[in-house]
Amino acid sequence: MIDVYKIIENTNVEGPGGRFCIWTQGCKKHCAGCWAKDTWSFDSGIKYSVKELYDKIVSQKNLEGVTFLGGEPFEQAKELSLLSEMVKQAGLSVVCFTGYTIEELNNKNDKYINEFLKHIDLLIDGGFEQDKFDLSRPWVGSSNQRYHFLTDFYTPEIINKYKNKIETRIMRDGSILINGMGNFEKIKRQMKI
Ligand code: SF4
Repeated sequence: MIDVYKIIENTNVEGPGGRFCIWTQGCKKHCAGCWAKDTWSFDSGIKYSVKELYDKIVSQKNLEGVTFLGGEPFEQAKELSLLSEMVKQAGLSVVCFTGYTIEELNNKNDKYINEFLKHIDLLIDGGFEQDKFDLSRPWVGSSNQRYHFLTDFYTPEIINKYKNKIETRIMRDGSILINGMGNFEKIKRQMKI
């Protein structure tokens, strides 16, 4: 089972093109300034099987791929590796954000982490660092975060093709859901939320 914090089934602001986004539940990094603290706990996620998530993904139209965000996706490398392999076989791309650096992941010498890395097209590494706040590059919020093109599905040119954007959704229950990358504090002040 995969512990999930949140799903957005189709968005254009969490990686290249239309993407099915899965925020995993559970993170040990606890970066200063993290704006996803609700994802830190390891016992409050919604549980989905790999098959359930796969079926949701392939039922969506006009997707370019899947994006994993955190929480920390690599805490669930075994299950996400399997899901990523299935997603790739369906012709979709995989983008993954991680609070670890790629060197830290490689140094773990963990078979499931290594397998997961094989199924990721674009890895964006490094936790958010408040003192390196920088919104000039797409999908990231601090200058320490790096793009690693692990397959030839994407090339570095895409970084110039996309800009940071946010999406705001008014949900059926009246709540407001904001995703993407931007100055969230400023946005909340302006929206008075
Ligand atoms: S790795 Fe990501 S989710 Fe975890 S504390 Fe850092 S910024 Fe927050």
